[in-house]
Amino acid sequence: MASLAPNAPDSGASFALAVDIGGSKIETALIDSAGTLLAPKQRIPVPFENGLGSLDRTLDILGAALGDARAMPGRFAGLSVGICGMVDAAGLVSVAPNLHWFDVPLGAAARERFGLPVRVGIDTWMAALGEATFGAGRGVPNFAWLTIGTGMGSCVVLNGAPYGGDRGFAGTIGHITVDEINGPPCGCGRRGCLECYAAGWAIAREGQAAIDMGHDTILRDMARQSGGPVTAPMVFQAEAQGDPAAVHIIGQVVRYVGRALGTMVNLLDISLVIVGGGVAQAGRDFLARAEAEARHHCFSRVAGAALRVVPESLPNAALFGCAADVFARARPPHAG
Ligand SMILES: [Zn+2]
Repeated sequence: MASLAPNAPDSGASFALAVDIGGSKIETALIDSAGTLLAPKQRIPVPFENGLGSLDRTLDILGAALGDARAMPGRFAGLSVGICGMVDAAGLVSVAPNLHWFDVPLGAAARERFGLPVRVGIDTWMAALGEATFGAGRGVPNFAWLTIGTGMGSCVVLNGAPYGGDRGFAGTIGHITVDEINGPPCGCGRRGCLECYAAGWAIAREGQAAIDMGHDTILRDMARQSGGPVTAPMVFQAEAQGDPAAVHIIGQVVRYVGRALGTMVNLLDISLVIVGGGVAQAGRDFLARAEAEARHHCFSRVAGAALRVVPESLPNAALFGCAADVFARARPPHAG
């Protein structure tokens, strides 16, 4: 499937198959132990509306990627998978809202089909591990990964290791409550969670509301020309053109994200937050503005001054985290 020639490893070099299962696509990559992408990533759109039915299709995709990996020269070290959902240590995906997956035994099914150890982890955990091993978090003992896109998620790295909490669910920052009384309904079944104000769908919703309320905004024409509803990228685009309604909406998002970042600093005393996801990269200066806003919420002025909010440093940090996970598993414990 992949064109493997340009960066194929020398025989004896070790490489991993990394798989990132997102809300609308699966990405696969072959990455060596130095963190080099050995061929262009593969991106496969997958309809997931069938719940468990799509497990077989997912395994077919993994199987094809595995065939490519095994055909490579060099030593195939193994496979790890990141997924946009809650996963236990056995690889049981208890809930992946965007995939409509509930209690899908992805890890066990993959191990059975391929006869290999297969780890399945939360994508935010894998992304944090990727940045810690190969990216902007390398050599930084404590930092946070934050993603703002379809939803909001995070993973904190403490003393060099991603922190999962008692059940591996730590970091669900998107579901910190902002306003449970008047807030919009959230996909999690509650109301007024942070992602109801800052995720891509929330930005789109506010853009549509500006039109519906009769505001004078170029979003109306943008939506009409697209033939669909307002999207978050449209709101960012309108903001860049100085549209007052869009400027107000994005200003609010910056405030919410800045407040969340400040809360992270107050709770954890970290100085680095690495941010991925479509929303984070959509607007000009978005991260710089969120960083400035965060400083207003830092209890310690020293911590606020030290805070750096930077974009994801890898082309899909979760994939690189999957590779790092494979190599960490392959390493004998005494090798450190
Ligand atoms: Zn929620």
